Amino acid sequence: MPADAELLERHRKVLPDWLALYYDEPIEIVHASGRHVTDSRGRTYLDFFAGILTNAIGYGVAEISDAVRGQLDTGVVHTSTLYLIRKQVELAEQIAELSGIPDAKVFFTNSGTEANETALMLATQHRRSNQVLALRNSYHGRAFATIGITGNRGWSASSLSPLKVSYVHGGYRYRGPFSGYTDADYIAACVEDLRDVLQTTTAGDVAAMIVEPIQGVGGFNVPPDGMLAAFKEVLDEHGILLISDEVQTGWGRTGEHFWGIDAHGVTPDAMTFAKGLGNGLAIGGVIARPELMDCLRANSISTFGGNPMATAGAKATLDYLLDHDLQGNAAKQGDRVIGGLRELADRYDVIGDVRGKGLMIGVELVEPGAGHEPSPPAAGIVLEQTRERGLLVGKGGLHGNVVRLAPPMTLTDEETEDALEILGAAIATAQEELS
Ligand code: PLP
Repeated sequence: MPADAELLERHRKVLPDWLALYYDEPIEIVHASGRHVTDSRGRTYLDFFAGILTNAIGYGVAEISDAVRGQLDTGVVHTSTLYLIRKQVELAEQIAELSGIPDAKVFFTNSGTEANETALMLATQHRRSNQVLALRNSYHGRAFATIGITGNRGWSASSLSPLKVSYVHGGYRYRGPFSGYTDADYIAACVEDLRDVLQTTTAGDVAAMIVEPIQGVGGFNVPPDGMLAAFKEVLDEHGILLISDEVQTGWGRTGEHFWGIDAHGVTPDAMTFAKGLGNGLAIGGVIARPELMDCLRANSISTFGGNPMATAGAKATLDYLLDHDLQGNAAKQGDRVIGGLRELADRYDVIGDVRGKGLMIGVELVEPGAGHEPSPPAAGIVLEQTRERGLLVGKGGLHGNVVRLAPPMTLTDEETEDALEILGAAIATAQEELS
């Protein structure tokens, strides 16, 4: 039995059934360099999902390894956050400055889930209300409060949340009642829906609205620029806080802007982050206005949040991102990938929609023909076919029919062309098999 098959057997025995694994024959990655990873059978792949957007700048980057190794060499892997940690303070200063939130404060966690749980806890405490708003088709994490506000049944593992949640349109336009609306009409319809939801499903004392500026798990759905500013105007009328979940959209990945919400010309009350900042190391956090961050009137702590190893790696990652203008590269390569995919969409009607910004690109696959019915089998074929040809991609969307592309932001021109060629071949196979 091959080593990965044996490992899979052991994995299935001791790890939860609900821990999602990709591929008919899941792979074990044992080596990585640049934008390429190698599995235990010696097969090398171009990574176009970056470990769910975690490897923002790719693998084996000397600056990051040196920063982490330097910290390791001091012997202080971690004591606790009860003592001062220089890199934690430096990183917080830099992130607060980048956030655009006046006098921002930063709290570090170990994941995006924890970041959102903390932001929701702060908002509900500050506003003395456990009512929140979320977008339909949203995903904000896997813990008790966040799972309960998931707006996507495929990821909604429990509805026994401590929060009361109402859902608003504005996440996903390709299907649903506002499909085909112009940007202006869509914004107007979603704002009307927000007003209606506030009026008909809440007592008015809502704590916060949490939004992903581009939905990630939900299929890389891009709302029209300015929509969140239009929402904020309504929220401000009621004193409702706006939390921007930047777990996927932060750090320049959307190309045009450093934060996803910047496309809307509005400053949120809080932002949450994770994934790309650690370039694979576990780090997340909340950025918030000081009165919101400091509303807790009791001691609190995260034993590992902001630890020296994670913050040393994250600081080096952030410096690298900024020094090498990876946001600019995300915009450039993203435009080329989207352009190439739109050319494929002209040839293959299994592609229903190509959307995205920067290096956050979704390809919604549909049944070939006129109906545009979602086709999860097409996404399955593309996933397997790309892997066989040496490319790793992601999957998502409300119906599991969206192929998600989010490579490291250091992607080169040549790698972009390689990926487009493989995607073309995989999509052609899906078209042929399903026609
Ligand atoms: N928020 C968003 C937008 C996400 O996409 C995710 C994870 O995919 C999370 C929060 C949760 O982050 P984590 O998996 O690090 O807990």
